Amino acid sequence: MSAETTAAGHAVHVPATLEEFMLHALAMERDAIERYTDFADQMETHNNRDVAAMFRTMAGYETKHAQEIMDQMGWKEPPVLALQGVRWARFDSPEAPSIDSVHYLMQPWHALQLALAAEQRAEAFFGELAAVATNDEVRAKALELQAEEAEHVELVKAWMAKVPQPEGDWENDPDPPRYID
Ligand code: ZN
Repeated sequence: MSAETTAAGHAVHVPATLEEFMLHALAMERDAIERYTDFADQMETHNNRDVAAMFRTMAGYETKHAQEIMDQMGWKEPPVLALQGVRWARFDSPEAPSIDSVHYLMQPWHALQLALAAEQRAEAFFGELAAVATNDEVRAKALELQAEEAEHVELVKAWMAKVPQPEGDWENDPDPPRYID
């Protein structure tokens, strides 16, 4: 693993081996499953069943990807300890918007926008993996996953065209909740 320091002074680790790349990929897929499940729950809370169903479908796709990565690497179970050691490179980061930071008034359009960014990152990641792969089987798998992520990007875009764009004042709740600490 090579360590580099960004202009901002953050140490980032660029995966140097196939195993590290695949650990990143698996961590990314697991994050995606969690994010889509959270989005689906949130959309159900808002009674938006169509968009909730779409997020459940996406969670299912990414679950399949996670399994493919594990099969490819011969991992019987997720390598939990190694996954905890994954340092995010440029593909994703702990600073990426998390469900906790998502506004409680978030509309389907906002959730879809976060999903779009995540799918584009995933597509770029597998493209990079294909470019550096030294093994034909791995390169073929990476290209296959990249193509599937490109389909996810299109799927999310198609959904974005179906949901209403938020009004400029969507953040203004006429009856805001009061928090008691
Ligand atoms: Zn995807």
